[in-house]
Amino acid sequence: MGHETSTRNSGVIHAGIYYPAQTLKAALCVEGRERLYAFAAQHGVPHDRCGKLIVAATAQEIPALERLAERAGVNGAPVDLVDRAFIAAHEPHVAGVAALWSHTTGRIEPEAYVRTLQRLASAAGVHVLPASPLIGADPHPSGIALRTPHESIAARLVINAAGLWADAVSATLGGEAFTIYPCRGDYAELAPSRRDMVNGLVYPVPHAPGHGLGVHLTRTTWGSVLLGPTIQYQDRKDDYESNRLPLEAFVDETRALLPEVTLADLQPASSGIRAKLCPPTEAFADFLIQRDTANAHIVQVAGIDSPGLTSSLAIAARVAAIVSDAA
Ligand SMILES: Cc1cc2nc3c(=O)[nH]c(=O)nc-3n(C[C@H](O)[C@H](O)[C@H](O)COP(=O)(O)OP(=O)(O)OC[C@H]3O[C@@H](n4cnc5c(N)ncnc54)[C@H](O)[C@@H]3O)c2cc1C
Repeated sequence: MGHETSTRNSGVIHAGIYYPAQTLKAALCVEGRERLYAFAAQHGVPHDRCGKLIVAATAQEIPALERLAERAGVNGAPVDLVDRAFIAAHEPHVAGVAALWSHTTGRIEPEAYVRTLQRLASAAGVHVLPASPLIGADPHPSGIALRTPHESIAARLVINAAGLWADAVSATLGGEAFTIYPCRGDYAELAPSRRDMVNGLVYPVPHAPGHGLGVHLTRTTWGSVLLGPTIQYQDRKDDYESNRLPLEAFVDETRALLPEVTLADLQPASSGIRAKLCPPTEAFADFLIQRDTANAHIVQVAGIDSPGLTSSLAIAARVAAIVSDAA
């Protein structure tokens, strides 16, 4: 864990504003966010509950803000509709006529979080085998024999949380069939001398429901200001670099929020790949978290795209409940 998507993301602790009601994403985001704040405080993981603005650029966007506020309230992520003066007080360089203020949104340092989980797991007696990919599996009536290049492991229960590769791992295990569609997100960032233009998290009103939140501004716990991520489905699951959008492609959307920005203020930054269960033609897929329908010795934890980091501890609690049910 931690070498792929969990350390290639925005590090935002999402409130749970956007997800359709009655979905796992809606429920586990809200539960996971509170678990994550408590965990980060307990274990000294850099984080804060900095809040977030969703900004209407024009008065025409205010009805969309109001609809979003309604959904947020239903989901357990209450927001306030705020005016231009509130925006100016929090983010003097951001343009907008009104905004939603989400006070339960925050940010965390993903690498420190993953390292802490790994340390705690090892201390609890978990064996971590980082260079041991699953390459084969032999199901038998009481479990599955797992094969790696170095060893064979007798498992009574296998939790498939293989991220981008969860579909391949399920096939190897003899579990149910599904497809993970890799969908890349590229970031730019503000040049260090311009970072003080942004204090926190600033998002536009989402335009295309389902496929991301629009290019937004994220000031991270370590002080950089990320712009992005973009959205581009691709064929490969391990290609973080080819066909990167030029910096020019970030200028218009960034200027919509931050009018003073020019191309000279931007520099390239990292990228990440979302493990999506929905193909480009569909707007939404929920997390897949359940006992496998083909083999009861497998628990599937797949399609964990955003808000997966936020939801992680709630996902773990849910998996633990499924596992104890299966015992
Ligand atoms: C651009 C981007 C921005 C995001 N921003 C946010 C955000 O701000 N907030 C938020 O809540 N979420 C965010 N997310 C989502 C979040 O990052 C993911 O939901 C989460 O990291 C998924 O974790 P995971 O453990 O499922 O996957 P991963 O971290 O990818 O872990 C999967 C693990 O499985 C291992 N594996 C794969 N195949 C095998 C095999 N055959 N054998 C053994 N091991 C294997 C891999 O090595 C890896 O360690 C973002 C995602 C992206 C891409």
